[in-house]
Amino acid sequence: MKPTKPIYFDFASTCPIDPRVLRRMLQSLKRDFGNTMSLHQLGQEAKVSLEEARETIANFINAKPSEIIFTSSATESNNLALKGVAFSSTVQKNHIIISSIEHPCVRESAKWLETKGFEISMVRVDRYGRVDISDLRKKIKKNTILVSIMHANNEVGTIQPIKEIGGICRKEGILFHTDAVQTFGKIPIDVKELKVDLLTASSHKIYGPKGVAILFVREGVKISPLLHGGGHEMGLRSSTVNLPAIVGFAEAVKICRESMKEEAKRIEKLSKMLTDDILKNIKGSRLNGDPKNRIPHILNFSFPGFDAHELAIELDLLGIAVSTGSACSTFDLKPSSTLMAMGLSEKEAFSSLRISLGRWTRKRDIEILVKSISQIIERKKKCLSEK
Ligand code: PLP
Repeated sequence: MKPTKPIYFDFASTCPIDPRVLRRMLQSLKRDFGNTMSLHQLGQEAKVSLEEARETIANFINAKPSEIIFTSSATESNNLALKGVAFSSTVQKNHIIISSIEHPCVRESAKWLETKGFEISMVRVDRYGRVDISDLRKKIKKNTILVSIMHANNEVGTIQPIKEIGGICRKEGILFHTDAVQTFGKIPIDVKELKVDLLTASSHKIYGPKGVAILFVREGVKISPLLHGGGHEMGLRSSTVNLPAIVGFAEAVKICRESMKEEAKRIEKLSKMLTDDILKNIKGSRLNGDPKNRIPHILNFSFPGFDAHELAIELDLLGIAVSTGSACSTFDLKPSSTLMAMGLSEKEAFSSLRISLGRWTRKRDIEILVKSISQIIERKKKCLSEK
């Protein structure tokens, strides 16, 4: 069965822009062309739009506008968090802790810092992808400056006990950063309640434009900038701001603010339906990640005995987009480091598909997806038995 229109199940990788966001951005592209650092009226009007957007996003996570730094991407925000803290620390404080399932932009930043003399520790996760808190406590040392642990994992959807980790770090006097790219706009976030010092969020995962993200930096936290220049963004990110994208990001946030609760309920229902249907109809299939503490948007299934790349390609030929892990690792023929850290074998990791749902996923799409996977697997089984 080939759907008449392509069906998209890769919202965790990126989202189509919401038409309401696009409309707002087109207005801004036409109107807000002034440089926000210019003294003249056009510049100052652009500055007003910038500060309104900052306030909208700050309010959404219970932060102050002055604590929001606009960047070009979550990758940049995560680099700024890790390197910014590392390079503003004293020589004696050089130990950073991350989890074993962080996004490559956190993991690779940490690896790079290791080559510059910083010491990096990785906290274990359990088979559900949940950070082992006792391992975290053991890894904390006198010279630890920063802990960076993601809010929800981008491959399996497991939510981490961020509030508990925030409490531990605050007590120990260690800065705490969370990469909230997969939770921002999906579940409520309150930076005060979570006790985070730094938080990353991105626009294109919430139906906003690509090329814009934020780093929340709690008042009083000192970090070094990566980009030096005209002193934009409280001196932490010099470069003329991408105002139409920032305005679009704020519009996407406003839509989430209005519809997040309803949307979460709807996606939760669809997610449960998809999980039940896959586990019931496809013998041997397994759900990866935490069955309870998870965001419903991201599902990850193993289909033992079947190659997930092949499944994804066959689904694509039918017009159905899914992924095998995070988009950044699709072309990397190594098994997913997240699934391996959770204790899956290489074979199991290679048999795993990520299916992510979003604003425009419908019940009918799920029915088509499950039927298509079942048919592909049945055909493959038949071919194997005839060999
Ligand atoms: N962090 C997480 C958890 C992600 O899922 C992603 C992208 O998938 C990123 C960071 C990096 O985002 P970007 O590639 O937009 O910079």
